[in-house]
Amino acid sequence: MLIDTRIVVLGGGPGGYVAAIRAGQLGLDCVLVEADRLGGTCLNVGCIPSKALIHAADEFHRLASYARAPRHGIAAAAPTLDFARTVEWKDAIVGRLNAGVASLLKKAGVKTLRGHGRMTDGKTCVVDTDTGRVTVKAEHVILATGSEPIELPALPFGGKIVSSTQALELTEPPARLAIVGGGYIGLELGIAFAKLGSRVTVIEAADRILPQYDADLTRPVVRRLDALGAEVLTATRALGESAAGLEVLCADGTRRRIAADRVLVTVGRRARLKGWGLEGLDLAMDGGFVRVDERCATAMRGVWAIGDLTGEPMLAHRAMAQGEMVAEIIAGERRAFHPAAIPAVCFTDPEIVSVGLSAEAARARGHEVITGLFPLAANGRALTLAAEDGFTRVVARADNHLILGIDAVGPGVSELSAAFTLALEMGARLEDITCTIHAHPTLGETVAEASYKALGQALHM
Ligand code: FAD
Ligand code: NAD
Repeated sequence: MLIDTRIVVLGGGPGGYVAAIRAGQLGLDCVLVEADRLGGTCLNVGCIPSKALIHAADEFHRLASYARAPRHGIAAAAPTLDFARTVEWKDAIVGRLNAGVASLLKKAGVKTLRGHGRMTDGKTCVVDTDTGRVTVKAEHVILATGSEPIELPALPFGGKIVSSTQALELTEPPARLAIVGGGYIGLELGIAFAKLGSRVTVIEAADRILPQYDADLTRPVVRRLDALGAEVLTATRALGESAAGLEVLCADGTRRRIAADRVLVTVGRRARLKGWGLEGLDLAMDGGFVRVDERCATAMRGVWAIGDLTGEPMLAHRAMAQGEMVAEIIAGERRAFHPAAIPAVCFTDPEIVSVGLSAEAARARGHEVITGLFPLAANGRALTLAAEDGFTRVVARADNHLILGIDAVGPGVSELSAAFTLALEMGARLEDITCTIHAHPTLGETVAEASYKALGQALHM
């Protein structure tokens, strides 16, 4: 079968499906090709199932902690965990969102082809569907094949060595869980499993966990890992796994064996470059990623690339924003991808949010800066939530008070990311924040308080 269309999108992850929906809404003929389930990594094996597991683990751990030691006058009996029901609940959320994406695509008039796609040239995608081969010829191609976990040669996936995908499919929390890689996934899932009762050991090659974040932001997470009984080995490398356990080389040169029922390897992800015909296209590369310009155009005319395939930060909201933009460009709009900031949120306990520049990064760019840090311990709402380990911090230009960065660490601060990003995107100055009435009592007040502090006008400190 042959389909002639304006756009073919290869990959139905957040980047791909958002591009397709927007294209359809703009009246462009669009075919979306997805080999697996709609929603890609994010919806099926990433953002959504991991956050469901994190929430369930929080609830279980909270009840268990009330059972161990009553707090605020509340005592509880020890909770029981029916993990199969937890997994069912998580899978139901994924299923509901899968169906939601399918219906949004249909509503936008997008034709979805379920099957593995392969580009045979810059205009043609051959798709092997259950009912036979379909050739899609398109004026524009949007490549959105996403990313996959990096495998360590010494710890190939299989058996007890698992990637995040298999970790999210476990039928029970492992009694002993070793995690190689103390980054986003290792810590989000590691903390969740520790709360579900696993004895967790994190092995991180760098000299601290979450090395991509400012050290001040990660300290409360280190404290929490400690309180949860998780062991964190930094500057440590995993050498291999045998019946005797996971062998690691520690910072001091000694070797240790860590007994583990599962070894979760989360040492980063790489762009999915194989299996879809990249070798037959004339694309420029940027290391292991497809090179794109500010419009997500590749080196070939009419071929666009978005999302994890195009590099860091490998985040769902970046992929979606790029997808939306490319559809609008194809529809004739003048667009370029120049966000003031792409928010980074780590759903650890406590959560971390980082938007824009740190003071150090701002100085490295030649800015003279002023900063303000407001501790959660001085915020009424944080105290009522028993959530006082953390802070909100602002970085602004010293000359005109333009905000360059805002970050925070604390329970529930992921929800502040929208306000932080909006402030940067709208070019807010410290005075814009202090002149905004922030509802009381909320964690959001810490942004105003941090801004007052940067101006040397602290109100509540
Ligand atoms: P993907 O989501 O990887 O989708 C690519 C799609 O292309 C897949 O569905 C794949 O099946 C399909 N495909 C590939 N090749 C072909 C082919 N030849 N034919 C047909 N289809 C093909 N990001 C966040 O922003 N927040 C989070 O909280 C977060 N949590 C995460 C947790 C985990 C455990 C993981 C693994 C990732 C997480 N991420 C998170 C990252 C996020 O999932 C990715 O950045 C995002 O999914 C990238 O979107 P994408 O559209 O580029 O690619
Ligand atoms: P990551 O880059 O966040 O962390 C990998 C960690 O592994 C790093 O700290 C690195 O120093 C360490 N490491 C590398 N090689 C090692 C080795 N041989 N031994 C021990 N440690 C080693 O990668 P990830 O956790 O796999 O996540 C992949 C990507 O998925 C992230 O970069 C992010 O883009 C995305 N993600 C985002 C979120 C979120 O937004 N909340 C959540 C999960 C995943």
